[in-house]
This record gives sequence, C-alpha cells and structure tokens, in this order.
Amino acid sequence: MPDRPRYVAGSPAETEPIPAASVYASEVVAALESDIRFDERGLIPAIVQDAETNAVLMLAYMNRQALELTIQTGETHFWSRSRAELWHKGATSGNYQHVVDMQLDCDGDTLLVRVHADGPACHTGEYTCFYRSFSVDADSGESAVDPNESEG
Ligand SMILES: [Zn+2]
Repeated sequence: MPDRPRYVAGSPAETEPIPAASVYASEVVAALESDIRFDERGLIPAIVQDAETNAVLMLAYMNRQALELTIQTGETHFWSRSRAELWHKGATSGNYQHVVDMQLDCDGDTLLVRVHADGPACHTGEYTCFYRSFSVDADSGESAVDPNESEG
C-alpha cells in the first residue's frame, strides 16, 4: 500500500497529490451504488453540518472519487465545479473537516455530512458559508437583506 500523501497547510491545491481511493472505500461506494443517485454530471450535492453546533456550514459537490476519498480519509473531499478538479477541504487553509457520519436523503440525491471542523468553513473566513441572513416579512411577503449581515 502506498504511503498516504502528507497534506501541508498552505500548499497550493493544484499541486497537492490526490491519492487513489482504497479498495475498501471503493467497495463501500459500490455497495451504495444502487442507493446513491449521482446527477448527469456524476455529482451529488453534500450539505456539511457542524456535528457539535448543528450549524449548516457549506454546500459542495462530490463525485464518486471525492466520496471514496472522504470515506477513506475521514476528511471531506469535493469536486470543484469551477476549477474542475478534486478538492481536499483544508489543503490550502488548514481548516480540515473530520467526518463524524454521513447520511443519504430519502431519494438518494443529497448527502448530509456531519463534521468536526478545524476552522472556518468559508473561504471568506466566516465560520459558515451561510453568514448572510435576510428576514421574510410574513405580512407583505417581501424580503429584505439585513445590511449589517450583507457582504462587504
Ligand atoms: Zn463560503
């Protein structure tokens, strides 16, 4: 079995060696094959939740290899749609996410990944990607972005 690559915080994601998934991880995913419904791009959305606070941290996508690597390493891996490459969360920031458990939703097209996070989930440095809130006025049906919470 090859040595597992060392992930160094601050190293560019582009140069980080992505290991091949182990036989074990491949078999786990194969066993789930009939239950998991990857979309036409071969992706499944993964909601990442803080296992301690229950806060929703982020939404990202996994392809089969990202799912296998997540199972194998116990750390979240995703497929970056914008960069079209595998992405080991924390490889550049050091903010790894350690998987506590994973759940598949009723129709098998969404994953819920509960984690212990080493640091902020968002690339902006925010604890969660969902830091911009807006309220919905039940009477008027209109919504308004809270200026204090908006991007800036
Ligand atoms: Zn974010």
